[in-house]
Amino acid sequence: MSVTEDAARPVPSPTVGFVSLGCPKALTDSELILTRLAAEGYRTSKTFEGADLVIVNTCGFIDAAVQESLDTIGEALSANGRVIVTGCLGAKAGEGGGNLVRQVHPKVLAVTGPHATQEVMDAVHAHVPKPHDPFVDLVPPHGVKLTPRHYAYLKISEGCNHRCTFCIIPSMRGNLVSRPVGDVLAEARALFDAGVRELLVVSQDTSAYGVDVKYRTGFFDGRPVRTRMHELCEQLAMLAEPHGAWVRLHYVYPYPHVDELLPLLASGRVLPYLDVPFQHSHPAVLKRMKRPASGEHNLERIEAWRRACPQLVVRSTFIAGFPGETDEEHEHLLQFLREAEIDRAGCFAYSPVAGAAANELPGALPDALREERRARVMAVAEAVSAQRLARRVGSTLQVLVDQAPALGRRGAAGRSYADAPEIDGTVKLLPPTKASTRIQVGEFVRARVVAADGHDLIAEPI
Ligand code: SF4
Repeated sequence: MSVTEDAARPVPSPTVGFVSLGCPKALTDSELILTRLAAEGYRTSKTFEGADLVIVNTCGFIDAAVQESLDTIGEALSANGRVIVTGCLGAKAGEGGGNLVRQVHPKVLAVTGPHATQEVMDAVHAHVPKPHDPFVDLVPPHGVKLTPRHYAYLKISEGCNHRCTFCIIPSMRGNLVSRPVGDVLAEARALFDAGVRELLVVSQDTSAYGVDVKYRTGFFDGRPVRTRMHELCEQLAMLAEPHGAWVRLHYVYPYPHVDELLPLLASGRVLPYLDVPFQHSHPAVLKRMKRPASGEHNLERIEAWRRACPQLVVRSTFIAGFPGETDEEHEHLLQFLREAEIDRAGCFAYSPVAGAAANELPGALPDALREERRARVMAVAEAVSAQRLARRVGSTLQVLVDQAPALGRRGAAGRSYADAPEIDGTVKLLPPTKASTRIQVGEFVRARVVAADGHDLIAEPI
């Protein structure tokens, strides 16, 4: 047979042995996994011998079912050796709190709980690569991204449980639906593997992640992980670390449990940067806006955050001229910006959105006054920001390079941990003093800040 004929010979699809135990809910989980396997081109079989690996969907209800599941896993290990365990028994703790399946059968490849199609498929892909599909495989494993290669947005949930009176997002996108934590982490890992150096976590309400599923325990790489912001951030930090990559949090509402994140931010494993859309500071305005966490003492909270993490950068957005906003309420906002030392702020003049409840509120302000107040807020915000930036002169920062024409020989532009892409300032890098130094987009360089310039810093690479 010629080489050409050999290459043209179809490669047999990998085979996955499958055993489904347990109740009808487990059966539907099995169906979902089998559907995905078939859709991706895997063959399935009911026997262990000859399969490339075996999946056992287990039951953990009564003792007899637990034993049957453990025995089946044992048989699959002896007959085949490559076994992925899913289902209720996978979520069961053994003695001392560890995973029961792993305690009894430490050689299994991966263990997940029930309703974990994606985690099971991730484990299958890790051990038996997906058959080649000339159409689907044109799409890279991390999907199609519209951002530059070195940073990417990671959406962790859709929708929102709040009903802010100026906003119509919940009526368009519905209540909060958190993505399974295993899916989110698998996407993050694929992005880092693909060269992403900065991951921007986004949603409508990042601190509420997992509320809708009661912080259910999901699985990633066979390990249990709660669907909760703190645990998610810990795991993202672990995934980012080997790549030296950044994790940045957006849309974090100041709920009390956000305080738990501060040690992680202070350690730098997640960037000490929080994007907190306060929208206003005065309790009466926040109440009229029906803002999340409107009862919190935001100034005290920010002060406590800064004590726990002195390098913390806070970005926020505000609305000026909301219906009924009095002079005193407006002054309260200006004072809040000064006292809270908000590093980066944007401000919009209130403008009615069709369908928003705020349109019915009394006390609409004239357009000119809303605009005048917006300008005052921005003037204060910029003065505060300039003072904060001036303090950085003389310091050394790690800068992620966004632009480097001529390999940086004429200078480059990037951002420090204090600057999110598109919305914050930049760090303008001076041409390197050594002619041999090359600066490339997507790499980190260290630079000494020599001046502040409006929203930006000027720094020399070192
Ligand atoms: S503005 Fe309010 S209602 Fe709209 S998405 Fe944000 S938190 Fe939800």
